[in-house]
Amino acid sequence: MRWHSINVQCPHCWELQDVMVDPMQRGGFVQDCEVCCHPIRFTPFVDEDGDVIGLETEPES
Ligand SMILES: [Zn+2]
Repeated sequence: MRWHSINVQCPHCWELQDVMVDPMQRGGFVQDCEVCCHPIRFTPFVDEDGDVIGLETEPES
């Protein structure tokens, strides 16, 4: 198990940034955007080996 760095686009300001994802956080997590500081809800996509293969982003109000 290792952390993955995934490139995502902020749903608030649309800036691209790298987010570190812990494979154990399968239920998702909330983290502030590095650029605009608005909270983003991240939902990881995990494959059958437990590797994070993608990240869905939603604005968290
Ligand atoms: Zn942002």
